[in-house]
Amino acid sequence: TFIMPIYNFSAGPAVLPKEVLQQAAAEMLDWQGSGMSVMEMSHRGKEFMSILAAAQHDFRELFAVPDNYKLLFMQGGAIAENAIVPLNLLGRGGRAQPATSDYINTGSWSTKSLKEARRYGNVNVAASSEDSHFAQIPERDSWQLSKDPAYVHLCTNETIDGVEYQFTPDVAAETNNAPLVADMSSHILSRVVDVSKYGVIYGGAQKNIGPAGLTLVVVREDLLGHALPACPSAFNWKIVADNDSMYNTPPTYAIYIAGLVFQWLKQQGGVAAMEQRNIAKATLLYDYLDSSDFYRTKIASNCRSRMNVPFFLADDALNDAFLSGAKERGLLQLKGHKSVGGMRASIYNAMPLEGVQALVAYLQEFEKQRG
Ligand code: PLP
Repeated sequence: TFIMPIYNFSAGPAVLPKEVLQQAAAEMLDWQGSGMSVMEMSHRGKEFMSILAAAQHDFRELFAVPDNYKLLFMQGGAIAENAIVPLNLLGRGGRAQPATSDYINTGSWSTKSLKEARRYGNVNVAASSEDSHFAQIPERDSWQLSKDPAYVHLCTNETIDGVEYQFTPDVAAETNNAPLVADMSSHILSRVVDVSKYGVIYGGAQKNIGPAGLTLVVVREDLLGHALPACPSAFNWKIVADNDSMYNTPPTYAIYIAGLVFQWLKQQGGVAAMEQRNIAKATLLYDYLDSSDFYRTKIASNCRSRMNVPFFLADDALNDAFLSGAKERGLLQLKGHKSVGGMRASIYNAMPLEGVQALVAYLQEFEKQRG
């Protein structure tokens, strides 16, 4: 009998490779003969410590993290990091309080980040594409950076709006070497990143890495130890680093699943190989959308996200029919974010090329029927 493949185009949380879910299911009750589920293990016991060490090692290798950066496994998600970033960096360089930080506003997530930062200091919105409904990334030449901000923050992939930086901005010269801080939640490990260009990279795990509950932070060592006195200990990067991410009980099961995803990614050839696949997937989808008048995308072609592809039917009245037809064909969760409308296809690492091919075939079929 033919079993229809299911392709999940959800923006998150967590779309994971089938092989990883199968392995997790197989060892759910008894991890490698230990007689325990990973959930039941002491986080300081040798079994979990080996899981943690492997996950840290594999992430550092996959993401090519230089030796002078710490990798932290935290909790609270990227939204908590929106506060944790200013709490850890506004004290940098002995700045008088409230210090200033610069933000580039390219969509819903960077807007959230800068609003949170206003609770702790002055925020200079150095550039914003809000006037163009976040359909592009403001040209680097137009950024009005501060002379000496505590840091410069950006969101390198806007999950809701569908814009992604296709360049790494250099801000050092104008900002007295302010560190670049990036929210990479929704495209981390989907493409090769030169970590050395950033001071801090953070992200919730629940797109390309694993289940919600784990937050990754990669921070350059010289940026540790500048936290404001009010910074909670569990959110103080230096304390977390000094305790090897074990200051508080870490999200052990989420770390374990993330570790399985890292192993899977290595089997796939690593991040560079994954990036080539992600380019192929995104190109296939955008090329079809561009070739058709029945569907539209609103994002400038030089900053389209390879991970999150918002698109619209020319006739909104067909949205429900489109979605129910998609579901019948095993193409799930294509409805767009409520703030943007239309459709959104999220095509993270775990989405195979076949899934995008199935989506494009359905786009064609639906257009033929209704166009
Ligand atoms: N930043 C980006 C780019 C996101 O896609 C998300 C979505 O989950 C968040 C921040 C919020 O992360 P969390 O819900 O893990 O706090």
